[in-house]
Amino acid sequence: MQIIIFGPPGAGKGTQAKKIAEEYEIPHLSTGEIFRSAIKNETPLGKKVKSILDAGDLVPDQTVVDLVEEELKKDKYEDGYILDGFPRTVPQAEAFDEILDSNGKTLDAFLVLEVPEQELVDRILSRGEGRSDDTEEGIKNRLEVYEKETAPVLNYYKEQGKVNAIDGVGSIDEIFSRIKDALEK
Ligand code: ADP
Repeated sequence: MQIIIFGPPGAGKGTQAKKIAEEYEIPHLSTGEIFRSAIKNETPLGKKVKSILDAGDLVPDQTVVDLVEEELKKDKYEDGYILDGFPRTVPQAEAFDEILDSNGKTLDAFLVLEVPEQELVDRILSRGEGRSDDTEEGIKNRLEVYEKETAPVLNYYKEQGKVNAIDGVGSIDEIFSRIKDALEK
């Protein structure tokens, strides 16, 4: 089962992706987590992307696509996965379609978590994960980048008839049960 979880920063993608991974026994692939871990370990990738993440900008498409393509070659992704944070631009979505095609797979679900903008800012500021991009400036820029670069990805998948909108307001378990209903219907 190949699933994408999508939505603005602060929508709860990471939290719900972990629950989906557990419930359906598929690995969780988060591009943001890969980048944060590369930064922490000071790898060449980490050095390349640190200032981009700190500013809340996007890592160049080719870098992300190459990374995801390589990662998905690992055996653990063979029976499916949940993608979180990717694709984040239309060129990434097009590249991902080609990756799926060349692996003989299709996308089973594209889940969009819908949360009002003010709640997003409040959640990020109060989650206190200590992420270096969780400053007021960083959040503002990530929301702008989301509107401009990432929101069009939604239309891309709407045209494919794959979008499942999920109300992202409520408790973690309430939201998760909406997701399960959507995946199992
Ligand atoms: P959030 O959804 O809260 O912004 P993520 O962990 O998904 O958090 O992403 C954190 C940062 O990692 C992004 O602001 C961006 O700089 C970078 N990033 C993650 N995924 C991608 C991607 N697919 N394309 C470009 N940049 C990405």
